[in-house]
Amino acid sequence: MSQSNDSSQPVGGAAGARVAIIGSGFGGLGAAIRLKQQGVEDFVIFERATDVGGTWRDNTYPGCACDVESHLYSFSFAPNPDWSRSFSHQPEIWDYLKRCARDFGLLPHIRFRHEVREAAWDEAAQHWRIETSQGSYTASMLVMASGALSEPAMPQIPGLESFRGKTFHSARWDHDYDLKGRRVAVIGTGASAVQFVPEIQPLVARLHLFQRTPPWILPRRDRALGARERQLFRRFPAAQRAERAAIYLFRELFLLPFRHLRLAGLVERMARRHLERSVPDPSLRAKLVPGYAIGCKRVLISNDYLPSLTRSNVEVVTEGIAEVRPHSILDRAGVERPVDAIILGTGFRVTDQPFAKHVRGRDGRTLSEVWGGSPQAYLGTTVAGFPNLFILLGPNTGLGHNSVVFMIEAQIEHVMAALGHAWRHGASAIEPRAEAQAAFVAAVQRRMEGTVWTAGGCASWYLDPTGRNSTLWPDFSWRFSRRAARLNPDEYRLSFTPGATRQVFNRHEPTRYREETV
Ligand code: NAP
Repeated sequence: MSQSNDSSQPVGGAAGARVAIIGSGFGGLGAAIRLKQQGVEDFVIFERATDVGGTWRDNTYPGCACDVESHLYSFSFAPNPDWSRSFSHQPEIWDYLKRCARDFGLLPHIRFRHEVREAAWDEAAQHWRIETSQGSYTASMLVMASGALSEPAMPQIPGLESFRGKTFHSARWDHDYDLKGRRVAVIGTGASAVQFVPEIQPLVARLHLFQRTPPWILPRRDRALGARERQLFRRFPAAQRAERAAIYLFRELFLLPFRHLRLAGLVERMARRHLERSVPDPSLRAKLVPGYAIGCKRVLISNDYLPSLTRSNVEVVTEGIAEVRPHSILDRAGVERPVDAIILGTGFRVTDQPFAKHVRGRDGRTLSEVWGGSPQAYLGTTVAGFPNLFILLGPNTGLGHNSVVFMIEAQIEHVMAALGHAWRHGASAIEPRAEAQAAFVAAVQRRMEGTVWTAGGCASWYLDPTGRNSTLWPDFSWRFSRRAARLNPDEYRLSFTPGATRQVFNRHEPTRYREETV
């Protein structure tokens, strides 16, 4: 689908581009790399920050690391033989993304400090009008890669705004604030908190951990990757590919306990043993046993979180917060604890993504209005009524058992297939048929039945306000990838504008084509 022949714009330069990408995390950079590899140069990436990296730029809290092995949590088309650990820490993952942006020549395409405020489909002009903090742009195709975990969720707790001490969210860590010797309250016990709690516990005077729901925690099988191993991967890339494949297949097996509650019991036993080994005190342990099936909420991995809760300066508070006062927190049992700082480990806005309020489709309605609180998309990527829009990590593309980078790559291949299909036919717009989208969503929901996510007995951020799990892909990830790789033309609708051109490819030289009027 080479576009190099007709790329009239300077490198992603002018106010109009063929493809606009929003966000420069794994999704945005991955899409840009694949566009370049296909010969498409006329694209621009809008990034509200001053550097690339998405969630791996924003989350700098102490102990921040990935809970998927790095050899898998990286692009298949940009392997890094030099990962220093099996589960790398944030600085190394961020460096990797910065390197990808540089090495693949993406930097000239990126418009930093460009926050996208609104994107509206212009039916007459057959393109997107994009309002950014630095001016207006147009683009034929719009790839939303703003990330599923980019908007911190601020809890609605009475009096929180009246607190006079320091408050910050884990995704906006204030490194200038010295926690040493402070009385600190942590709200939340999710994936972020289990990583930063053991890091700050030795520093602080008191740590009050406000736990609403205990998480299931498994051991973290992390290790340093030695010089020899790295050299092997550098010299024999096939060895690294084999390592990646082995990790992938092993992780795919983890879908089974999530799909079959009886198998979940086996994994629960492992987690219980981990808890017993880590927390000798039965009364503390009792507070830490989850009352729902493992996997219903994201399963966490940590070796140091549970032991850190046994330290004398830590208290696990399970009574719930009644209110926050200017210098303290009052729990529902009436106990008031004076604190200097409150750290919110309260997660992200996943099912009510703010971008949905700012993307308007053909009939002028926003995604958020169309979705009515329950996001839906064909293959989690395209939405009927929103021509030429592609959402990376859109509805039902998250995973509880494997690497989301794998899902992002699968979606990107779908985007490439759709762009290629539209451009080859000289279409000005492509969108999924409403029936195809509805059938896809219904099939996903059927597949969700009986899984830990619907029958596991918990409330989680996987569920939207209607109670539907519109976040996770409930099947093997290779099934998604296989389906996304091919575009079924019957499930898409093309639009044409008079005088448009289509590309007629030379069968013997696939990157060369001539243009014909449709
Ligand atoms: P999270 O998993 O959504 O956890 C949020 C925590 O805050 C939960 O314990 C939740 O309790 C609690 N909470 C929320 N609102 C509250 C309120 N009003 N009062 C009291 N407690 C409240 O968020 P996260 O830890 O930031 O992680 C989010 C996701 O990011 C993860 O699931 C994972 O996908 C990703 N992540 C990955 C890594 C990694 O790779 N290691 C690290 C960090 C994050 P309830 O459970 O009762 O709702």
